[in-house]
Amino acid sequence: MKNLVIFGATGSIGNSTIEFIKSCPNKFKIIGLSARSRIKELKQISETFKVPYIVVEKEEDAKILSSSLNYSAQVLWGDEGLKDLASLDSVDIAVIGISGIKALIPTYYALKAGKRVAIANKECIIAVGSFLKEIAKYHKAELLPVDSEHSAFFQLLQKEKKEHIEKLIITASGGPFYKTPIKEFSKITPEMAVSHPTWKMGKKISVDSATLMNKGFEVLEAMVLFDFPLDKIEVVIHPQSLVHGIIKLIDGCYLMHLSSPDMKIAIAYALNYPERVKLPIKSLDLTTTKYLIFEKPNFKKFSCLKLAYKVGKLGGVYPLILEAADEVVVDAFLNRKITFDKISYFLEKTLNEFKIPSINLKDINETLEFHKKVCEFTENLIKKSCL
Ligand code: MG
Repeated sequence: MKNLVIFGATGSIGNSTIEFIKSCPNKFKIIGLSARSRIKELKQISETFKVPYIVVEKEEDAKILSSSLNYSAQVLWGDEGLKDLASLDSVDIAVIGISGIKALIPTYYALKAGKRVAIANKECIIAVGSFLKEIAKYHKAELLPVDSEHSAFFQLLQKEKKEHIEKLIITASGGPFYKTPIKEFSKITPEMAVSHPTWKMGKKISVDSATLMNKGFEVLEAMVLFDFPLDKIEVVIHPQSLVHGIIKLIDGCYLMHLSSPDMKIAIAYALNYPERVKLPIKSLDLTTTKYLIFEKPNFKKFSCLKLAYKVGKLGGVYPLILEAADEVVVDAFLNRKITFDKISYFLEKTLNEFKIPSINLKDINETLEFHKKVCEFTENLIKKSCL
């Protein structure tokens, strides 16, 4: 029996993890949960599994939850709570389903405590992935990807020598506006942007998928996770979302990872690795797929993808700047402060105009502080433009 904590328990990764755990109650035990604000849902999950440790963001929510639970649990709150939960001795695996740079706190402390970390969050990897890998190595922890594309690569790369690999090819569904003419981009509403054709996800990542920023982030993520140079990582549009990752070998062979688009597959792989288990999912009927489409992405239309390659080339703090600016810009779009077509404009403007202070990326407080500065800078850019 492995003891598990789920950070971001009420989000889409959290839900899929819980669904998977229900299918094998004798293998995993949930001993900790965190959620930012969906207290009702958190209470329900906690009571179902009688989870002994719970973390929420605010102190008042912790009090409300603690007094309303139908069993006794330790309810912690804030960054300290996240840190304590990640560092608990009894934890074997931490699932990181929190979106945004906030996930850095539980990720860092879980690695420092030598846990297996199944990470769906890409922001932390983009920002300070190399550092996190160093921490993992030093503390004999494991950092395993849960993002479906990176899980696919992780699986495909198990048996291949690195020198045999010519390219990593990341597939993108193209999002809901792949066929929309660019001149209509200014009319795209938040409601249109959050309805993804194949994956059901949180709002931020759905918008990132619609701009292809998500795919750009995945390029940066792959670069760090698998130690691959940027020019060996490609993106292809694959609207069916059945092939999640492709590696091209030096002898001309392609190895593909194909499965139903269900996050439980990547989650279960990271939790059970190197074993595999039967899953409660609808398996794919190959005879109904008929054909697989792969197309070149349109970098002109989806300039966010271009920006990702740009910051990948620049390296250093640039990926972190892009990621931070994106959190603000997407939020502004979701709150109808800017139009869809202006997302990449504000990202590029931040990259060009933000004055970089000296920073030590091996200090998570400095990294979080830096991230905040970029966010404030982008917020100001947006504010000024709205005047
Ligand atoms: Mg993905």
